[in-house]
Amino acid sequence: MSAASRQGAAALIRQVAGEARGTGLFLDFDGTLAAITGDPEDSRLPEQLHGVLAALARTLGVVAVVSGRPAASLAERVPVDGVRLLGLYGLETWDEQGSRPRPEAARWQATVDDAKGLLGAGAEGLEGVELEDKGLSVALHWRNAGDRGERGRQVSAVVERVAAQTGLGREPGKFVEELRPPVDWDKGTAVRAVMEEERLRLPVYCGDDLGDLPALRAVRELGGVAVLVSDGETPEALDDAADIIMDGPEAIADWLTRLRHALA
Ligand SMILES: [Mg+2]
Repeated sequence: MSAASRQGAAALIRQVAGEARGTGLFLDFDGTLAAITGDPEDSRLPEQLHGVLAALARTLGVVAVVSGRPAASLAERVPVDGVRLLGLYGLETWDEQGSRPRPEAARWQATVDDAKGLLGAGAEGLEGVELEDKGLSVALHWRNAGDRGERGRQVSAVVERVAAQTGLGREPGKFVEELRPPVDWDKGTAVRAVMEEERLRLPVYCGDDLGDLPALRAVRELGGVAVLVSDGETPEALDDAADIIMDGPEAIADWLTRLRHALA
């Protein structure tokens, strides 16, 4: 973390402490709370954050994890009382009954299922490419490919074709492209909805990837603070959207722990 960012992180703790009940703290999962792993199945919330997030959820207005993962996958990984789980960029929420998709997205289920077959066929023979079935969306990953540049171009061509065939929306990320229902809903919309619903005043968003961009922009527009978690592979567009930069999930874990102590 640079000296300027370190100062920014400390100032943000003071700002949140002064507005605890009015704060909405929104956290991305992969690459923000949890380190990126070769197999997304292996990603876990670091042990020390279970207690930290539970304590923050009792003190702040809202603590939410906002991820491209399905809500069920988040529920498995973030079993923390009081923390809200918003899956598939907020298209799914989680409660005692399980995962709840937004109705305007659920209508696309059959089309998404078609796309899974088309993407699987299109990616056949592309070494290092994996299809991830996220239920109401589907992704192709090439993080483990030998030549990521070349593989990325090939995957993009396949995804573009299937998007045109099905009418689904494209969601690009780091070494991943996803097709999802083409509804006007992203992490920014999700953050705004919670802020309004709960009448909160200070939104703070922490994220590391292109899917986080709408949320980073939204919190700025709402007078909040945009925190970028950088791992050296950060897409350029994200730098401009950030107020504070933190170096990877370890820096976020450290900051959350310090925030918890400041609020205790
Ligand atoms: Mg992420």
